[in-house]
Amino acid sequence: MGERIYTLIKNQNNPRSELFAHRIIDWQQQHGRHGLPWQGADAYRVWLSEIMLQQTQVVTVIPYYHRFVARFPTIAALAADSEDAVLAHWSGLGYYSRARNLHCTAQLIMQRHEGKFPQHFEDILALPGIGRSTAAAISAFAFHERRAILDGNVKRLLARYHAIEGYTGEKKIEALLWQQAEALLPKRDVAVYTQGLMDLGALVCTRSKPQCPICPLQADCAAFQGGLVAQLPTPRPRKVLPERHSTFLLLLDGPDILLEKRPGSGIWGGLWCPPQVDPQFLSKVEDASAYCLQHFGTESKHTLALSTFTHTFTHFKLHITPLLLQVINKPTQIQEPGLMWLDVDDALQAAIPTPVRKLLQEIQAGRRLM
Ligand code: SF4
Repeated sequence: MGERIYTLIKNQNNPRSELFAHRIIDWQQQHGRHGLPWQGADAYRVWLSEIMLQQTQVVTVIPYYHRFVARFPTIAALAADSEDAVLAHWSGLGYYSRARNLHCTAQLIMQRHEGKFPQHFEDILALPGIGRSTAAAISAFAFHERRAILDGNVKRLLARYHAIEGYTGEKKIEALLWQQAEALLPKRDVAVYTQGLMDLGALVCTRSKPQCPICPLQADCAAFQGGLVAQLPTPRPRKVLPERHSTFLLLLDGPDILLEKRPGSGIWGGLWCPPQVDPQFLSKVEDASAYCLQHFGTESKHTLALSTFTHTFTHFKLHITPLLLQVINKPTQIQEPGLMWLDVDDALQAAIPTPVRKLLQEIQAGRRLM
């Protein structure tokens, strides 16, 4: 395999490379995505869309994008608002460090760049939460700079087009893909080309069931010609995810539920969740009442364990057991910072992670049935 790749790199300025860009551009103009709300927008909106589109599909992002720009129409508006408001508008999109980085970055742009999104590639790359491919996409779309992108879709497409074996997240394979991405860049029409690569990766050269018969690259796609499409890209080496357990204490007082703000870093950083406790501290369900009295000053009468469910993060699995506790003497004032009682309806509008949203929706639905 090493020799074959070396030959590819030596020949990267051949007519095949030039043709590649022409075909991508032509295909984008005829079949690519047009009229996306951030296309042709200013750098702030392009940046926002690129961050939202990381790990999330276009169709999911569009309503979030509209709500976000309606609430935070400028970098200054985003910087001036609270992290809670930003997270609440992100709630449901997942990977919340993206939202926290957006917020801090907006504040940094206010301080360092007088509120104007920086135009130079190196300045964009220096901003928190913006990697090489995202910086390149912003440069290409907002400033028409000639920069190569290499997001997940493009990695897959190039790995197939050049029949490059090996996991694309591995450093040496990724370096090789970057070389290819750079070598294939056209001299002009970089924004259309970049959109075309993204569109082709998302719509045609998909992870499963790629649409090779309608692909503009089919004639010289090495994977297609060599019958290797199903094998490429090489899957990530399988590893067993570690498992963790947590008990969610759902303390209810009439329509209100107790929520706790999570630390800024780590999973669900800065989001509101029911208090969580390591199950080893609750050897029996009744221990939960004693725990709540000790930590939150509340007595509770009925304690009910709901079914355990699993939420999978990229690096571990979390088994969650929710315990429902009916509070009987809620303290009039919350002693601890980072704790709040909130009506379940209002809690659903707050910055909460998806599993908590589902739990609250179940509580809400249960109440309606009562
Ligand atoms: S021919 Fe098939 S495998 Fe090759 S780039 Fe096109 S869609 Fe992907």
